[in-house]
Amino acid sequence: MISGRLLRELQEVDLQLDDLARELARLEAALHEPEELQALQTQIRHLEEERSRLQRQQRDLELDMQGVVETRTNLERRLYGGYITNPREVEAAEQKAEELRRRESTLEDRILELMVTLEDLEGTLQELHSRLDGARARWEEQRAQLLAQQAHLKEERQRLHAQRSRLVGQLPPDLLLLYERLRQRKGGVAVARLEQRVCQVCGVEVAVSVERQVRYGEEVVLCPTCGRILV
Ligand SMILES: [Zn+2]
Repeated sequence: MISGRLLRELQEVDLQLDDLARELARLEAALHEPEELQALQTQIRHLEEERSRLQRQQRDLELDMQGVVETRTNLERRLYGGYITNPREVEAAEQKAEELRRRESTLEDRILELMVTLEDLEGTLQELHSRLDGARARWEEQRAQLLAQQAHLKEERQRLHAQRSRLVGQLPPDLLLLYERLRQRKGGVAVARLEQRVCQVCGVEVAVSVERQVRYGEEVVLCPTCGRILV
């Protein structure tokens, strides 16, 4: 009598292990950080670089402005303090002061413009940061669930492996070898139940003699149609 019950149990365990392997692979893939998070991080990094660039530009302009103001103030002090008396020199100095004032006003405009741009940028960055925080919180929660699921499935797999070892230990080695080979060749299903003479995998009816062999025979009987071990 071949160990029909053991083979059925082994088949059941192996099919569950196959399902688990698929589910674990799916979880593994789902555990990669979402693209949304990466995209937001990249966007934030680029905008922060842009902000640094604009801030440097603003500092440079402010230094320029400081220089211009100093030069103009000195010039005016000399001009209105009576240090320059020659009318031609006075005129030249006045022109120079006017030019400096225009330069000052241009610089002031550019600085203001930059400040507005920086303020907008700051607003965008704040919005992106809060979106990133939200996305990260959602992902952390999701990830925790996935990890819990994964841990649970790994425990289940361990339990099934132990069960499998027990079953395998009770089967004759040549039968086990046949089982393994058939499982590889037949889509993971090596064993077929025979019910009322019908193979429950391929659905084909077997001869009475085959059924008798399965019920009482000492040897392994394969389904004449699908080639699986009938039990
Ligand atoms: Zn069959």
